[in-house]
This record gives sequence, structure tokens and C-alpha cells, in this order.
Amino acid sequence: MALENLTAEELQKLLLREKKNGFFKVSAEELDKADEFNEGYKTFLDEGKTEREVVDYTLKIIEENGFVPFNAKATYKAGDKVYYNNRGKSICIAVIGKNGVKNGARIAAAHIDSPRIDLKPIPLYETNDMAYLKTHYYGGIRKYQWVAMPLAMHGVIVKKDGEVINVKIGEKEGEPQFCITDILPHLAKEQNTKPLGQAFTGEDLNVLVGSRPVRTEDAKEAYKLNVLKALYEMYGVVEEDLISAEIEFVPAFKAADIGFDRALIGSYGHDDRVCAYPALQAILDAENPEDTIITVLTDKEETGSDGNTGLHCDYLRYFIADLAQMEGYEPRHVLSKSSCLSADVTAAYDPHYASCFESNNACYVNCGVGVCKYTGSGGKGGTSDANAEFLAKVRKIFDDADVLWQIGELGKVDQGGGGTVAKFVANMNVDVIDVGVPVLSMHAPFEVVSKLDVYSAYKGFKAFFEA
Ligand code: MN
Ligand code: MN
Repeated sequence: MALENLTAEELQKLLLREKKNGFFKVSAEELDKADEFNEGYKTFLDEGKTEREVVDYTLKIIEENGFVPFNAKATYKAGDKVYYNNRGKSICIAVIGKNGVKNGARIAAAHIDSPRIDLKPIPLYETNDMAYLKTHYYGGIRKYQWVAMPLAMHGVIVKKDGEVINVKIGEKEGEPQFCITDILPHLAKEQNTKPLGQAFTGEDLNVLVGSRPVRTEDAKEAYKLNVLKALYEMYGVVEEDLISAEIEFVPAFKAADIGFDRALIGSYGHDDRVCAYPALQAILDAENPEDTIITVLTDKEETGSDGNTGLHCDYLRYFIADLAQMEGYEPRHVLSKSSCLSADVTAAYDPHYASCFESNNACYVNCGVGVCKYTGSGGKGGTSDANAEFLAKVRKIFDDADVLWQIGELGKVDQGGGGTVAKFVANMNVDVIDVGVPVLSMHAPFEVVSKLDVYSAYKGFKAFFEA
């Protein structure tokens, strides 16, 4: 093409990447669909604040939609729907494609654990006539954000005979809540002189759980005893039982629309339920997939994916191996032909912290689902860095399906960094790229995302499954 004859406008249209707010790239009807989609998402957020709760809620939804437990000895045909529940904390959900796994599987992998405050094995103590729980925070939190706000207690206590007691207190109207206290500004002179990263320590994050003793003057540890009395009455457990428990303190508030235009949602735990929900809805709605499609909702990402419910474990590899072998294929051949969207959040550009971002290569709220070719830190350390061929395929799939998407890095080079499950899936010899929703205040107790971006993630995952 002879470019000399083109006007400036024509040149721009041909050569420049279109840069405008996502709002102007979608119709009013599309926005309405996005808003409606997010009503379901808000329920998902409120119903599942821990990985166990998300798996329970997901099981309810997929069983209503005809999914059955996977049986490695069975034979399946196109359209059959199966799932593998890994210890109630992570789950593989699959729809058998027309080609089965002959040409590989298509995977969307999101995580369902979020940063929070876990209990130590021997948590309960009293001091100065108050009872507290010792904690050990989970994932990358900024500690100052977790004090002086309402917390709810979630989790399980498992008794020696194996009985599992589900705990959830502080969510329903009228239930007690909990908190970690902070020093008043009047007496914060010394604390104020400390750098932010040192002003609050992990050992300071103790949860206030009681302040009245049992009514016996000579009782030992009367304040602690009164808390144990309440726990026994509610759950039939004694102090020793807290040793085999997973108790997690999470923000007690619910998801809410943010802004006069209601374009955003504020909530605890968008990272990464904001990708888990679209990945779940995408597999429910995907029509007649050619290849077998799999949505994986995994645990332990926030602590590095180690452990038998995290993606550093082989449970996904074994699930795909079972699918391969039942169709008579070598698992390694199937894996090498498989591809995956690592469905995890990225940072949204925040004008208040502009110096942390490189504005040309940042993801923006309301501009669609964000693609990250690589994550990591220190010169792409600890990332799988998707290959250009696979990124080109994903671009085409998204554009063909009118998916609103953008591409960016987490932040400036050498500003910090992060990782996702991408590298663990890539290390199975699968093509992987990170695709997820940009988040403001990521890892804070109250994170913010755009409804349009959530819906765009859903459209993206669905298009990937159907392509
Ligand atoms: Mn994440
Ligand atoms: Mn995270």
C-alpha cells in the first residue's frame, strides 16, 4: 500500500492503536448486560469469602447445571459435564469437547483464596482482662489496613474423630463481629515516626474476642475461659480442638456498588474471585466446545501455590492425564497441545500512585479485561512469559468475539512485582498467558473493580472456550 497518498487521519486509522475509554467501545445494551452479570457476581462474593466456601457454592451451581463427579473409569461423550473436587478447597470443572482432548484441552485457571488473617494453632490468650486470638496473616497484606475494621470468623474446626464443624460468625445481621484494635492518634507519636512497613507487626495483629470473665472469682484465666465457654456452647469444641482447625478472619462487610454511576464494585476478595466467577460462568455458558474445556478454581495462590490444593501440585496434571488416558492418548502429548488462560487480576492504574505505573503499559479501570504477557520481578524473574504466537492467537480470539481487552504490566520496571499460577501451568508444557480484571487497592480488605471489566473477562474466557 502506498502510504504517501493517505491523509493524516487515514494514516492514524491504519497505523495507530485505538486508545479510548472502554465505555465508548461498547453499546448501552452491552453495559446493561455487564451490570446484570455483576449482580450474580456480588452474590458470589458474599457467599464465598474463603476457598472452601467458594468450592461449596460452586458445587451447588454446577450440580444444578448437570455436572457430575468425574469417574476416571467411565467413558464420556461430547457435552458431558464433570468435576473433580480436590479436598473441598480447589476444583476442576470440565465439559467434554467434540474432539475430546485429542488436540489438547482449553483451560481457564483462577484462584479462590484471598489474603486474610489466619489463626495460630494455639491462638487464645488473655491479658489485662481481655481475651484475644493470636494470628498469622495469609498472603501479601499491608498490615495497617487490617486494624480498626469489622472482621468475621470463617473456617472449619476438625475434631479428633474427624467431625468437621463449619464456622461462620459475624456475617448475619445481629451476629457478633471481631476486630484488631489500633492506637489512638493522640498517643501515636512514637508509631508515627516508624516507616509504614514497620509500624505494624505480624505479632500485633491479635483479634479481640472477649472482655467479660466467667462469674467465678477464683477461676484461672477467667476471660479466656468465658470465650471457650461460648465456643463450646456454639460448636461443641474445646481449646485442644483449635489445633486442628482452619479459622480465617476476613472483612465482615458485603460487596457494594461504588460511585454515583454504580460502575464499580467494592468488596473483599476480588483477587481472585473476580476471575473465578467469570471463568465459572464461561464454562456453564460455553456452547459446543471443540476441545474439552476446563475451569480450575484453585487454592494457595496467595502463598505461592505450594500444597496439595495449589497449582504447584499435580492435581490438574493428573485430571488431564485421566481425560487423556480414557480416550487412549498419552497425557504428555495432550498437555503439550493444551492452552490456558491464567485468570488472575492485574493492577489498575491509580492516579494517586501514578509514579508506580508506566502509563503506556498499564491497565485501566473500565478498559476491559487485562492481558499480561509476563509478571514476575527483577528482569522477568519468576514468570513464564507467554510466547508471541500464543498471544497472537488470544488477540484474534478476543477481537473476533468483540471482547473489550487491554494489555499492560503490573507496574513500573523494578518497582516490585508479583506472580500468578501461570508459570505452574506453563511448566506442564502448556501454552499460558495471564488474563484478568484490573483491580484498585489490590490485596486491601476492600478492593475495587469495574463491572464492565468483569463482564469482559467472562466474554473473554467464553470466547477462548468456544474458539
Ligand atoms: Mn491473584
Ligand atoms: Mn493476589
